[in-house]
Amino acid sequence: MKRTRNTVQRQAVLDAIRALDGQHPTAAEVFEQVCNTPSETCPRLSLATVYRALDTLTAQKQIAEIRLGTVCRYDAGLDLHHHIICRQCGTVTDVCEDALPVTLYRKVEKCSGYIVADEPIQFYGLCPKCNKL
Ligand SMILES: [Zn+2]
Ligand SMILES: [Zn+2]
Repeated sequence: MKRTRNTVQRQAVLDAIRALDGQHPTAAEVFEQVCNTPSETCPRLSLATVYRALDTLTAQKQIAEIRLGTVCRYDAGLDLHHHIICRQCGTVTDVCEDALPVTLYRKVEKCSGYIVADEPIQFYGLCPKCNKL
């Protein structure tokens, strides 16, 4: 019985993240989205439940976690892609994988001796909105 309840809660959290696709919501934003999506099948969730569901979904690789200092954001897009993060407002935007030339990886490997892993890279800057201020 408990298991079923957990599954329903996790599905509600997953749906919320998918609804916010491309926005890379924080746990609080996911929570808000779940609250704003009334559902007869879904019991009211607490923020703690949302955190637990996010941990489980991340462990199950159904979503990706982006750690930014002390804040975690969540991504429903599982294809390898990179992110650019606004230093000013914290917006996270997707950067498609082919924005980076393959030769970049080879150059990094050459000068470091490492083999570069297929992992998302984070860029930092000012988003177009903050750039105008
Ligand atoms: Zn910004
Ligand atoms: Zn992303």
